[in-house]
Amino acid sequence: MSMLYQRMSQVPVRLGGKTAIKLHMGDPSNVTHISPQDVRILAEKIKANGGEPFLVDTTVLYPGARSTPKGYLKVARENGFGDFEVVISEKYEKVDGVEVAKEIVEADSLLVLTHVTGDMSTGFAGAIKNLGMGGVSRKEKRKIHAPMGPRHDSSKCIACGECVKACLFGFLQLVDERLNLTLNDCPACGGCVKACTTGALWESSEARKKTFELLARAARAVVSPFEGSDVAYVSVLKNITEFCDCTKYVGAFVCEDIGYLTGKDPLEVDSRTVELIHTRNPKAMNFEAWEELKTIAINYWR
Ligand code: SF4
Ligand code: SF4
Repeated sequence: MSMLYQRMSQVPVRLGGKTAIKLHMGDPSNVTHISPQDVRILAEKIKANGGEPFLVDTTVLYPGARSTPKGYLKVARENGFGDFEVVISEKYEKVDGVEVAKEIVEADSLLVLTHVTGDMSTGFAGAIKNLGMGGVSRKEKRKIHAPMGPRHDSSKCIACGECVKACLFGFLQLVDERLNLTLNDCPACGGCVKACTTGALWESSEARKKTFELLARAARAVVSPFEGSDVAYVSVLKNITEFCDCTKYVGAFVCEDIGYLTGKDPLEVDSRTVELIHTRNPKAMNFEAWEELKTIAINYWR
């Protein structure tokens, strides 16, 4: 059962041994990511149990500072995580057919530390998203995103360029009034689809289902080596923004700060998180997308 605390110092942590703390350390200029002070409190608790905590994350698919281990390490330092042992995985091990960060697989225990936000593709970003997208290789990320990229119907396109402006990653270009899409590393954020007012860009709901299926499968694979008491979840329900910490464009704050939610089951922690946010603001995020992901994810946990 999940428990809600007001301060990180109240959160109980019983993990020990070599403990991987899986978290997102924020993009450059992102200021709403998990605070290093909160991470320090957890790390001290693990050390008090005789454990050896380290922070771990993986490189991102889209272009930017966090697309290489060296670049991400620099960002981690700049965002205040310089005092910790930080590992940005470069090696992966297959778990249930999914390439999972080697350092996670080889750890004695796993703390899934998640900053809760809205998310353009999954509606809500919680523990399942942190694990399924954040704990795997770029190859797996590409596989997960691939089905969900935008489709283009040139017969409806008026070459207005709004989608080009909306894409933060430069995957879209207008050349001679024709739209070129280079979507290999597109994270399917949906920004271009939202910006298009003519319906020329759209997402397939079948494709979204496929993406959610792959994401849930990947999340399950990341925690597979840690059944029972070797895995715990802490979700930070503070600085809850419209979009995730992957860029500095996090949108508006959509909910008041709630606290720290802990538990042993990611689906239960995520579901309770959604309930707590929905009670405060039913329009905070795309809850329908989350319900769809949850229905699929249940098959991997129950
Ligand atoms: S979904 Fe559209 S806006 Fe988002 S990254 Fe892909 S091409 Fe760019
Ligand atoms: S926003 Fe829509 S109509 Fe405008 S260029 Fe892009 S696809 Fe075409």
